[in-house]
Amino acid sequence: ELYNYIQETKGNIRVFCRCRPLNKEETSTKSATIVDFDGAKDGDLGVITGNNSKKSFKFDRVYTPKDGQVDVFADASPMVVSVLDGYNVCIFAYGQTGTGKTFTMEVSVLEVYNEQIRDLLATSPASKKLEIKQSSEGSHHVPGLVEAKVDNINEVWNVLQAGSNARAVGSNNVNEHSSRSHCMLSIMVKAKNLMNGDCTKSKLWLVDLAGSERLAKTDVQGERLKEAQNINRSLSALGDVIYALATKSSHIPYRNSKLTHLLQDSLGGDSKTLMFVQISPSEHDVSETLSSLNFATRVR
Ligand code: ADP
Ligand code: MG
Repeated sequence: ELYNYIQETKGNIRVFCRCRPLNKEETSTKSATIVDFDGAKDGDLGVITGNNSKKSFKFDRVYTPKDGQVDVFADASPMVVSVLDGYNVCIFAYGQTGTGKTFTMEVSVLEVYNEQIRDLLATSPASKKLEIKQSSEGSHHVPGLVEAKVDNINEVWNVLQAGSNARAVGSNNVNEHSSRSHCMLSIMVKAKNLMNGDCTKSKLWLVDLAGSERLAKTDVQGERLKEAQNINRSLSALGDVIYALATKSSHIPYRNSKLTHLLQDSLGGDSKTLMFVQISPSEHDVSETLSSLNFATRVR
């Protein structure tokens, strides 16, 4: 049913919103839940912003803290399967650090950190800078990036493991680093139609974005300031591209960040895009939650 829905509805951008459960600390300190899931089945979500005020949002799907990986995967898999039909697909997770972006994407191989592309599968500590090139057919790629050949799911897991190990190298705090960089996995799929012999070549991107939260003003100095500016720049460039696509603007500003430049041939055209906006249920995160929901609403 969802497959038909994705196939039939106009436009190729879907936004799913997922809220994590309260964590141990929030539970023990009796943190209040400010998210209202009454209309979740219809894609409606409310955020209680004060005594008598509630802000409402609408998405293609809303997952409550009770929904598990199986529910989310069942809804996202038709998109993944359409890669086999020759579509480019891009699935990404947006939201504040700690809201479940990595949890939802199951992915931890190319990293964009401070507007620099780092190859997480390269065997030598690559000091060379990777650049984005456009091929004669118009697709974008990164020459020199290691491509691992995988024939089965175990090999995919091994590649992911190698990539996530490499991600940790060179950072003193892994979680900290992973929340300040975008982790981008691309899978090239060559499919052959056994009935007529037609071949298609397509690409699936899985993107675990950097945390969208604003840093405390006191934290913003030196390297951290540069990081924060690059994150803001690339996340807003992503928002601008998706907004331009959603409103069918004649100019799509792909070139404003490495992130959108890399994703160029998988965002727009007849590519399919699925964005997960990840949120926290806690009263303490209300301002980040509203800002993530507003970001996601703008692109829908
Ligand atoms: P992010 O990548 O956005 O920083 P994580 O994916 O690391 O966040 O999630 C933070 C913590 O919350 C992890 O311990 C994760 O297992 C847990 N978590 C996130 N979403 C869920 C969920 N829907 N159900 C259960 N645990 C979750
Ligand atoms: Mg993460």
